[in-house]
Amino acid sequence: MSRIEQEKQTVEQMIRLYCRKKEGNETLCPQCREVLEYAHARLSRCPFGEKKGTCRLCTIHCYKPEMRERMREIMRWAGPRMLLYHPVAAIRHLWQEYIRKQ
Ligand SMILES: [Zn+2]
Repeated sequence: MSRIEQEKQTVEQMIRLYCRKKEGNETLCPQCREVLEYAHARLSRCPFGEKKGTCRLCTIHCYKPEMRERMREIMRWAGPRMLLYHPVAAIRHLWQEYIRKQ
C-alpha cells in the first residue's frame, strides 16, 4: 500500500472512531463524512505524494480554515485513542512523524 493510501486509511479510522465513540453515531454522520471526503481529496492532491510526512507536520497546510478546525478537533480526540483501537495504524503514523523530525 502506498503512503497516501495508508494516510487515507488512518484518517478514515480516526474520523470513524470519533463519530462512533464521541458522537455516538452508528454510521458516519453527514458532517464527519464531509470532513472525511475533504481529507481524502486533499491527500489525493498532496504535492508531496509518496514523500509526504503526516499532515500535522506539513509545511503547506492545504486545508481551508474551517475544515482544519474540524479536523483538529477530531484528531485531538481520536489521536490518543487510536493506540487503543487501531494500534498498528497509530504506531505507523507516529513513526512517520518521528523519522520526519530527524
Ligand atoms: Zn460524526
